[in-house]
Amino acid sequence: MLANTARTFVKARPLFAQRFYATGAGANTLLIVEHKDGAITGATLNALTAASKLGGSVTALVAGGDDAIAQSIAKYTGVSKVLTASDAAYSKNLPEDLAPLLVEVTKSNNFTHVFAGHTAVGKNVLPRVAALLDVAAVSDITGVESEDTFVRPIYAGNAIATVKSNDNVKIVTVRGTAFEAAQESGNNAAVEAAPEVAKSGVTEWIGEEIQKSDRPDLGTANRVISGGRGMKNGDNFKLLYDMADKMGAAVGASRAAVDAGFVDNSLQVGQTGKIVAPELYVAVGISGAIQHLAGMKDSKTIVAINKDADAPIFQVADYGLVEDLFKAVPEITEKL
Ligand SMILES: Cc1cc2nc3c(=O)[nH]c(=O)nc-3n(C[C@H](O)[C@H](O)[C@H](O)COP(=O)(O)OP(=O)(O)OC[C@H]3O[C@@H](n4cnc5c(N)ncnc54)[C@H](O)[C@@H]3O)c2cc1C
Repeated sequence: MLANTARTFVKARPLFAQRFYATGAGANTLLIVEHKDGAITGATLNALTAASKLGGSVTALVAGGDDAIAQSIAKYTGVSKVLTASDAAYSKNLPEDLAPLLVEVTKSNNFTHVFAGHTAVGKNVLPRVAALLDVAAVSDITGVESEDTFVRPIYAGNAIATVKSNDNVKIVTVRGTAFEAAQESGNNAAVEAAPEVAKSGVTEWIGEEIQKSDRPDLGTANRVISGGRGMKNGDNFKLLYDMADKMGAAVGASRAAVDAGFVDNSLQVGQTGKIVAPELYVAVGISGAIQHLAGMKDSKTIVAINKDADAPIFQVADYGLVEDLFKAVPEITEKL
């Protein structure tokens, strides 16, 4: 048993988010409000906190949502105004339609910044907006240093870059785990309609098949149990599902487990998967490659179960169990 192993660089990241903030008053920021099933997403509230650090005003754009979402975001601290584009065509966030709307809204309101969560939607839409405006996109920021200078991880989080944009409009996606969620405050921002913009007509939403799960969402869960190549096959993931159900945890995976076909790639945690920062992250049969650490090293408490005492995962783990997972996991599940 390795107890309380060192993880200095793990704790360094949240400090960056707290340290870098600005007080400028000239920013005029547009915030993209992502919503799903009638609710504002958590990533939007993190992005609102980041946008508020610029100072100035923040206008929230609700595209393809109903009035209740607009009324809801109007209550959050830091929101100066809400714009709505109620056309249902926007509800699926197709970038071909959403990007021209954002460009028009940005130009007609002289927005200096456009902020969105670094989510599938933000990553899909904002680079297109940047290209249409002929400016650079600054992605995945973890800190706001001033109106034009932002902090972002590079090389899978092994270096932290401070980048300055000289463009008139800063197009920015925000790493949710680096900023607290904004809070409702009884604010009462005005709600107005955004200008109408013609749809591109080049894409059409046909449908979607979403895997339903009673477990918490991986991206926002407080507890995550992830399995790696050490699980050997997909059937063995049942061991992790059983443990997760006892703990109310979400299940994740390393890329090796996904590439081997053990589980769906929506479960992948890491540089090219989801970035998570739960209260508790349990890594089972995962070696701890930097690309995996990039997605989970901000977790509050990291537990590793691995039969190899030299596995790099133990360098970031708070608690480590050197044991065969096929023995350890059922035992832990039974005790839970
Ligand atoms: C550009 C790029 C992007 C990438 N993005 C990601 C990413 O987003 N996420 C990601 O995870 N990886 C990513 N990778 C892959 C990454 O480099 C590693 O290959 C991968 O994370 C390894 O997964 P793993 O730890 O499950 O497998 P391995 O490295 O093979 O480790 C398996 C571990 O299981 C342990 N084990 C085996 N059997 C048992 C047992 N019975 N009991 C206990 N322990 C056992 C072994 O000791 C070993 O430590 C990326 C790579 C590249 C090049």
